[in-house]
Amino acid sequence: MIDEAYRKTAEEVLSLLETDGSGLSEKQVETNRSRYGSNAFGEEKRVSPVLIFLSQFNDFLIWILLVAAILSAVLGKLESTLVIAVVVLLNAVLGTVQHLKAEQSLTALKAMSSPQARVIRGGDVITIDSQNIVVGDIMAVEAGDFIAADGRLISAYSLKADESALTGESLSAEKDNEHLEKSNLSPGDQSNMVFSGTHITYGRGLAVVTAVGESTELGKIASLLSQAKEKQTPLQRSLDAFGKKLAIIILAIAAVIFAMNIYRSSPVLDAIMFSVSLAVAAIPEALSSIVTIVLAIGTRRMAQENAIIRRLHAVEGLGSVSVICSDKTGTLTQNKMSVRQAYVGGRLLAENGLDLEQKLDKHLLNIAMLCNDSITTDVQVIGDPTEVALVDWGEVYKLDELIIRDKYQRISELPFDSERKLMSTLNDIDGQKIMAAKGAVDVMIKRVKYIDDGQGARPIKPDDITRIEKMNAQLSSQGLRVLAFASREYEGTELSLKDENELTFIGLVAMMDPPRPESRDAVTACHRAGIRTIMITGDHIVTASAIARDIGILTDEYQALKGSEIETLSDKELEEIVPRTAVYARVSPEHKIRIVKAWQQLGHAVAMTGDGVNDAPALKQSDVGVAMGITGTEVSKDAASMVLTDDNFATIVRAVSNGRSIYRNISNAVQFLLSGNTAGILAVLFASLAGLPAPFAPVHLLFINLVTDSLPAIAIGLEKPEEAVMSEPPRNINEPLLNKKFAQTVLFQGLIIGIATMIAFYIGLNADLMEAAVMGASANGAANGSSSMTAATMAFAVLCLARLIHGFNSRTQGPLSLRKLFSNKFSWIAFLSGSLLLAAVMLIRPLQNVFETVSLTMEQYLQIAGLALLPTIIIQIVRRLMARR
Ligand code: ATP
Repeated sequence: MIDEAYRKTAEEVLSLLETDGSGLSEKQVETNRSRYGSNAFGEEKRVSPVLIFLSQFNDFLIWILLVAAILSAVLGKLESTLVIAVVVLLNAVLGTVQHLKAEQSLTALKAMSSPQARVIRGGDVITIDSQNIVVGDIMAVEAGDFIAADGRLISAYSLKADESALTGESLSAEKDNEHLEKSNLSPGDQSNMVFSGTHITYGRGLAVVTAVGESTELGKIASLLSQAKEKQTPLQRSLDAFGKKLAIIILAIAAVIFAMNIYRSSPVLDAIMFSVSLAVAAIPEALSSIVTIVLAIGTRRMAQENAIIRRLHAVEGLGSVSVICSDKTGTLTQNKMSVRQAYVGGRLLAENGLDLEQKLDKHLLNIAMLCNDSITTDVQVIGDPTEVALVDWGEVYKLDELIIRDKYQRISELPFDSERKLMSTLNDIDGQKIMAAKGAVDVMIKRVKYIDDGQGARPIKPDDITRIEKMNAQLSSQGLRVLAFASREYEGTELSLKDENELTFIGLVAMMDPPRPESRDAVTACHRAGIRTIMITGDHIVTASAIARDIGILTDEYQALKGSEIETLSDKELEEIVPRTAVYARVSPEHKIRIVKAWQQLGHAVAMTGDGVNDAPALKQSDVGVAMGITGTEVSKDAASMVLTDDNFATIVRAVSNGRSIYRNISNAVQFLLSGNTAGILAVLFASLAGLPAPFAPVHLLFINLVTDSLPAIAIGLEKPEEAVMSEPPRNINEPLLNKKFAQTVLFQGLIIGIATMIAFYIGLNADLMEAAVMGASANGAANGSSSMTAATMAFAVLCLARLIHGFNSRTQGPLSLRKLFSNKFSWIAFLSGSLLLAAVMLIRPLQNVFETVSLTMEQYLQIAGLALLPTIIIQIVRRLMARR
């Protein structure tokens, strides 16, 4: 790193680092990386898989199970010890695998949205991952960029940086490239430096990197780097809280059953084992981890479809979004602009209609090339599409922007910003200093004092202004973006914002940015899904309305509103007006926040797009902040909870569909887990209350917990989005997952699975009684003693199989069609592997001993199959009847 770089001139720093304005060569990059280190901060410590595995044992129930296993061993019941050991181990393995998988997906997601930086290397501007920056690199920074490393400014145009992360100062600091004499300056006073972790709020500039990674000012303050850990999502939190409450209830039930068993003089160890197994089987410990897994899998799918989730809670938010506020340019439109018409010297011309023999036409075209930062070559196109369109326009007249810019050197500039809506440059045109400006017509018209209509500049008259405004309206109503061009002679060498006045109007240029072909369908899809689409744009109201009408956002029932009109409204008045408004034009970032808040006040969940440096607050305020991956600033990406890699509105709509289906899958998986557990508890409770022997042996409960819980639940989580999710209204954001209807469904499904289980138990019990009678034992003894093996085997088999089959029910809320039945191979894998394991423990002799099952008659096997199918048949019939209603 270079010490006190601010005390050296830019040239000194460059030569110390053996580089110049064209940047490092590939070889130098490697040399500097090994000499000065890489731009990485102490890697976040990854928890090792061993620790994750061990942490699976840190659970109250597991401890009790382990104690039970030890007791069993002491008492010589080695089979029980073995079973518990296997169950606990498998549980831990499964938990570890799930944890690692989820973590893997989330890390991959994070990598996809890692910050980027622009550097000049070997003469080219390239975009690289911030962590690949090295000392000596030339960083190109502009409004909205995060600074990736400390750097000494080589050039700065109206540059301002927000350094609050470093200095605590909330006002933006002005930056320039002048060298400073004083030593020991604090970062806040080093006006010719930019610092890692801060961001640019205004202007642009170039800086040579002087320190990276832990040598940066930010790196020195280690505490700042401990990134806040992602909190649990609201759904995870509420499920966790619910799971805890449920666990207490189940523990109470298990305690009651323990007491009853003791009262009936069961051996204490057996009673403990039974109650513990019941608790283990009934407490849905997988609830919150199912959410994590389904979210992780879902976000991977979304990333493949160009929506990168940066904060997991956004997925839940997406599921309930009822308003999408979208930018126009680039999101609803293609952001591929081309000049269609020009208005100069009172003539409206086609794009190829300029007459370069005329001084005015030539001047217009020249300033379109000069007041412009874009470059288009055969290999690459760099810059803002509005400006690219102007450069392309020059090509129609065989003008090369680089040659013109070389001929008429730029002396100073005022970069474009979307609040000012203007850009100006100062160029040396044949020895004369000319300031050229371009920008929004309504803004420019207030700043022109003269007009050149071919005969030289003269004071502009109200008539001229009316004519220009009429022309602007006419062109805008065709959906064209109209820019005004003006110029003036200039004395100084450094432009300042107040110089954008007393200009001479030269002409208008109208360009077309066609809507994306998919926007219209996406808007229709939103309409069907009960989602309002709103266009919020910096563009002119007439242009915006024309495009919005074309796409279907603006219809007769809605209106378009200007940002300036929002200013006159109170928050209450705005709330009244937002439901009627579909287009907001000439909007500033502050208006965006107010619009989001107004919708939220009305009880809506809002998705809001943003790309600029000032959009961050609105993105944070919205329920789902959406940043643009291609054109968005790093600051907006950082504030957003979702980034679109293709900047496309249709991607947001697909993400909403995914969000809805992920939420649905989570809800279905939770319903599956809870209904199965309910069935088990109801069966045990019923048997206890009716004075019957326990319907299951502890190993049965452990087996059910392991085999019928996780696998089908994960398969349900993997369910692909149903088309139907987008023909329903959005879910109310305040509606909890575990609502009354949800509870009713869980109870109903649990009840019928429980009843089927109890029927099997009764059938088995009768068979046991008959057998006991045949063998001459007392009937009473059979009912209470250990010879209820057939009954237990049948109850166990039915509960297990019924839950496996119920896994298919739970994949959807409605009737299960044949096509749907076969559309998810994971649910079949879960079902078949579960069934095979069940068959193994029921049919293979040594396993029978361990799992306390007995061989049954053919008739009994058929009865098991029938009874296990029964709940699903009933559920399907009920759903079909309900669907018909
Ligand atoms: P959206 O907010 O939908 O992305 P937008 O791109 O039109 O819309 P801004 O980029 O804020 O929004 O532009 C606002 C206005 O500034 C434009 O309508 C145009 O008149 C003017 N403008 C845009 N780009 C430039 C530029 N490079 N130079 C000068 N003026 C520009």
